[in-house]
Amino acid sequence: MFRPFRREGANLPKIVAANWKMNLRRQSAVELASALKSDGRNCWLFPAFPHLAPLHDALIGSGLKLGAQDVSPEPDGACTGDVSAEMLADTGCTLVLVGHSERRLGHGENAELLARKLKRALEVGLKPLYCVGETLEQRKAGAAQAVVKEHLATLAGMERIAAVAYEPVWAIGTGETATPGQAAEMHAFIREELKKLGLNNLPILYGGSVKPDNALELMSQPDVDGVLVGGASLELTSLRAIDDAAREIK
Ligand code: PEP
Repeated sequence: MFRPFRREGANLPKIVAANWKMNLRRQSAVELASALKSDGRNCWLFPAFPHLAPLHDALIGSGLKLGAQDVSPEPDGACTGDVSAEMLADTGCTLVLVGHSERRLGHGENAELLARKLKRALEVGLKPLYCVGETLEQRKAGAAQAVVKEHLATLAGMERIAAVAYEPVWAIGTGETATPGQAAEMHAFIREELKKLGLNNLPILYGGSVKPDNALELMSQPDVDGVLVGGASLELTSLRAIDDAAREIK
């Protein structure tokens, strides 16, 4: 059993957030969410856009939170293919992912664009789960903290952020996880940087190949307030096991 660490005054349950990416059909998404609701769980779910409205309806009366995976930097208007913050709020979701590495790297999203997305989300009352993290090359070059610091700088002047997720790019979907020590070290650094930005006590989640067999140890590290899970969140059994680990830490 790992000894859990709690920041003073932060006696909150660990957060388990599920990033379903471009996976699942409507029926399987609703079935997965409904099973979590029957269990009485409080995870944060990030399904694909078309599943937001049906999931919202399925989750009424539960403690589960619903979020989108992206938001347009523009208000309603001539932006083919985009989904505005207003539309997302209209589906009943309350959270939105911003800064995921699959958007930063796969879609060339830079700090200026991400700041606009964050502002749009906040304007309509959506709370961002903001992702940061270095690539393997950046880590090998000794630049991991500098990169994460730069990513965090986008949060300057912003309030009502739901959480920050530290997701080393080299650990996402690769089966390779940051060691508990690496996660603890970076989370402590992020905590200090957030303080400088006036963002005290913001939950900091770890993401990157979190699985049932490493979740408890990762979440037991200082300043690891929960996990953001991709692949292992698509199966009810593994998501339940990760959430059970979160609940074990009291
Ligand atoms: C993610 O994409 O946010 C993620 C953490 O994915 P995985 O758990 O599959 O590494």
